[in-house]
This record gives sequence, structure tokens and C-alpha cells, in this order.
Amino acid sequence: MPPSKVVRSATRQLHRDAVIRALRLQGAASRRDLQEATGLSRSTISSIVNELMAEGEVERCSAARTGRGRPVELIRVVEDAQRTWLGIEFSHGSVHVVLVQGDNQVRAQACRSYTGETTWSDRFAIASEVLARETPSEVAVSGVGIGFPSSAVMRGEDLITRGQEGALELIREVAAQVGQRYRAAVSVDNNVRLAGLAEMLWQTEAQPENQIYARVSDGIGGALVCNGQLVTGQSGFGGEIGHLTVEADGVRCRCGKRGCLETVASASAIIRRCRQGGAQVAGIEDVAQAYHQGRRVAVEAVTEAGQALGKVLGRVCVLIDPARIVLAGTVVSALPHLVDVVRDQVGLELLPVNQVLPRTVHARLGEDAGALGAALMAMSATRLRYPILIPDRSVN
Ligand SMILES: [Zn+2]
Repeated sequence: MPPSKVVRSATRQLHRDAVIRALRLQGAASRRDLQEATGLSRSTISSIVNELMAEGEVERCSAARTGRGRPVELIRVVEDAQRTWLGIEFSHGSVHVVLVQGDNQVRAQACRSYTGETTWSDRFAIASEVLARETPSEVAVSGVGIGFPSSAVMRGEDLITRGQEGALELIREVAAQVGQRYRAAVSVDNNVRLAGLAEMLWQTEAQPENQIYARVSDGIGGALVCNGQLVTGQSGFGGEIGHLTVEADGVRCRCGKRGCLETVASASAIIRRCRQGGAQVAGIEDVAQAYHQGRRVAVEAVTEAGQALGKVLGRVCVLIDPARIVLAGTVVSALPHLVDVVRDQVGLELLPVNQVLPRTVHARLGEDAGALGAALMAMSATRLRYPILIPDRSVN
């Protein structure tokens, strides 16, 4: 399979935006109206309208008769509420798929598990099976978002990833295959960041402009939303709160540093601390049971984890002054009391001069948050100014 190619130039994107803007302003317009409104040539308008029609962005509507000539075809933007977006999240242990309609209704959702040893080509084969079952052929997909557990992010027309060896080729290939299948633009980002985006956008009445999202599971990932925008960073590492140092000479982290938050507050770190203290715990549920029974070793490990998490989140609060902290992941689900420990610790870290304590809450979305975020990213691709990766459609 040849790699995907970014074929939409910045100029082309500007022209497309101009056409859509003109259609939104006029409601419906002929190709000639669009020429006048945008100043673009007849051939450019014609090719952009054909492209947008093929993508399901615009549609023909009733033709208007001008004088005695033949009717002029009018074009309009397809109503967002009738359109469908696809979100796919590849995490370390499963793939989640959701189909979201423009009115924020989830039309279909599915999940399949795999193991950490499953190869990426097998993961994609599993995802393809799920997609074939959940997306009937009559469903026209307007855009696709894909979340990966790496530092994937797009900058201009480049897809950047520093996550894993060979990840760039893999992500490009998966994006190209999905894009070809649905004939839709594909956007890519880190899966935890997308989950944070979903928590901010999904059916809330008052969306906070500034939010910290932390997913505490086997690892710790995070997402920062500042002034309504996801912070991706220069190379896709924006929001990686799990790798802020909390113990100067602590345990070696999988990232190569020592004493990262992840080495103290992740599920594996809490389990390790309990075992070192003599507790026989197999998983985080056992830790939760020991904690609720008041076993000292579990109470200490969980409290230390919560305080470390609160210290890190509190420092980030000093930097970005968020309205809300959202805690997600298997550790928080097993130990909901962590939310209170974190809230108290954050309070100690804030500026004593009237900095407002952010609301610290448990995530509202479940396991499919990353897939929902991926669909929402695809929906808001132009509004949030996410660059869009267009797989090469000439390749079959
Ligand atoms: Zn680390």
C-alpha cells in the first residue's frame, strides 16, 4: 500500500473555505453567483464544487429558472445535522469506533479488545471488521478522526510523530486506507488529547475555555485546553502531564527519565508500592478493596498517588488557570475518592491571592471518549483550524 499523500495545498483550502463561506451567506447559489462572490475563476469554482459534492459537503437543490434559458443549478451546504462523522480510537488494548451525527447524536458505537502484543496490521484488520459491521454502505461519512496512542499531531501539511519507531508510516497508511474507504478527509491526533477534547465539547451547556484532563490508567496521559483550543505543542507532546518529575531520584520511567508522575500515580506504580509493602494485589481493583478495608499500605500508596497527581495538576493550574479539572481512567474509576484527594492538593498549590479553585470532577464520558473526540475533531476540523490530511484518492 503506497503511503498517503497530502494533496490539498493551502491555496486550495482557502478557495474551498471561500466557496463554503459564500454558500453559507447566500443559503444557495449558482456557480456564477459563487464566481462573483469569491472572485475565483469559472474552472476553479467548478472543480471545487465537484470536489465538495463528492465529499458530501454540498448538494444540489432545486434549480432556479432565469428568463427563458435552461434552469440554473443551485448549490447549498449540506446541513450539519444530517451528516455523519466517524471517530476511531486505537488505544493500547482496544479499538473504539463511533459514528456521530451533526446534532451530536451517536448513531453507532462498537469496541473490540486486543492485547498489547497485537501487531498494528492486525489491529487495523480488527478495526476494519468493526467498521464494516457498523457503517452500512448507505451511510455517507463527511470526515474521519483517528486517535493513536503516540505523539501524532499534524502541523500544516505535515504529520508529525515521535512516538514509536515506524509509527509515522503506519499512521499514514491507516489514515490513507480509512480515507479511501470512506472517501473522506482524515484528521489524526493523540488519543488521550482527543478524549480531553470530547470531555470539553460533548453536550455541555457551558463549555470551559480552559480545562485540564488527566487519564490515569496503566500510564498517565493528559490534555490541556487553553482558550478553547487543544494544546498540541510543537511536536505533539502538549499536555503530557504524566512525565512531569515528582521525585528527583525516583524510579526509572518508560520514557527514560526518573521519577515521573507516572512512576508514582499510575495503576502499575500503585500496585508496585502495595506489593513492596507486603500486600498481595493483582490489579487496581484489589488495591481499591484493600484501600476500602483500611489496609495501611494501600491507603498510603493511594494517598501518595493522589497527592502527587494534585501537586502536578496544581502547578499546571498556576500556569493556565483552568475552570475545570477532569479525571478519567481505570485508577480513578476504581478509586473515586482520588478526586477529593486531588482537589484538596490542588487547593494548596494555587496562588493564595484569590485564584479560583477549579472544579475537579470525574469524567462524564466512558471508554469511548477518545473515539468521540476523534469524531468531534473531524467535525470541527476547519473551525478549530486542525490541518486536514487528505489521502491520495488516485490510489486504489
Ligand atoms: Zn516519564
